[in-house]
Amino acid sequence: MNKYPPKKLIKDIDSTDVQNFKLSFNSSTNVLSEGDEGYEKSIIRWADNAIKKAGIVVQATCLDDIVKTVKFASKNHLDFAVSCGGHSSSGTSSSEGGVVLDMRKLNKVRVDVEKKLIYAQGGALFGDVDNEAWKYGLATVGGIVDHTGIGGLTLGGGFGHLTGRHGLTIDNVVGATIVTADGEVKELSESKNKDLFWAIRGCGANFGVVYEFIYKAHEQKEVFAGVIAYPAEKLDTIIEAINIWLKNRRSENEGMAVVISRSPPENKVFNHVIYDIFFFFFFFKKKKNFFFFLLL
Ligand SMILES: Cc1cc2nc3c(=O)[nH]c(=O)nc-3n(C[C@H](O)[C@H](O)[C@H](O)COP(=O)(O)OP(=O)(O)OC[C@H]3O[C@@H](n4cnc5c(N)ncnc54)[C@H](O)[C@@H]3O)c2cc1C
Repeated sequence: MNKYPPKKLIKDIDSTDVQNFKLSFNSSTNVLSEGDEGYEKSIIRWADNAIKKAGIVVQATCLDDIVKTVKFASKNHLDFAVSCGGHSSSGTSSSEGGVVLDMRKLNKVRVDVEKKLIYAQGGALFGDVDNEAWKYGLATVGGIVDHTGIGGLTLGGGFGHLTGRHGLTIDNVVGATIVTADGEVKELSESKNKDLFWAIRGCGANFGVVYEFIYKAHEQKEVFAGVIAYPAEKLDTIIEAINIWLKNRRSENEGMAVVISRSPPENKVFNHVIYDIFFFFFFFKKKKNFFFFLLL
């Protein structure tokens, strides 16, 4: 049976190789090491516990940067992580001493209005996708907030406000361009590289670096959306109101996700913010529904 060689860190390999690797990029691509301007910012993640001191951070600006970085990491058996929106709280988009491929500069989104398709580069946030699609009255299934990366959210399955109507985010992926561990660029769809296309829609983030996703776009009308937070003592009233709203709901264009968080009483002192409130994310077709809940 083949055994994988142990993973190495940047400090374990020849510094001339590292230097040559850095010099192989053009000036628009930053390759950062500790001490370089922008390095500390590049390793920030949504969760503090996910911040790790990368050996090197490549801020890719084109497909070739991804290919080059993947090949370099593979050839040298380096610890390797891909980062998009940086929202993984388990630290899967960070590396302690290895290579981080930072996709955030690859965030272009374009819409084919006629075919109702959204082409989004693998470093975009869902806010980038929403903003571009909305210009044409379109939307796809993204997350509930706009600052999660499309990379991690899509490869993790993805659910959001439109899931009830259009399924998970992966149900709306119709194609992708991916760089596999050997540095090959592959187009994926129902007719090209079908097995890999199947894998990226539900098997996680380990099949390669996604350079671009193609999503189905759906017509989307304006809705009243947002978050309302209530003090805990309002819980019974709100549940009652939600039941009334559900019973009378005439449109599948309305939905909500209710988040109720209650920690053990002994933690109340530390968690008083989430202990004493609960909240829901909503989107309503009718303005009056919004005011109904707002005034409770
Ligand atoms: C505040 C908050 C709100 C959230 N809301 C929702 C929600 O409404 N719906 C939902 O489904 N999830 C939600 N999540 C979960 C979120 O989708 C996951 O944490 C997801 O992994 C974040 O993706 P990211 O690109 O921001 O994270 P990152 O930390 O950058 O990446 C996460 C994982 O994906 C990999 N990855 C990222 N981009 C690529 C790429 N282009 N190619 C290959 N691999 C890549 C990374 O290597 C890593 O393993 C939420 C998380 C937070 C913190």
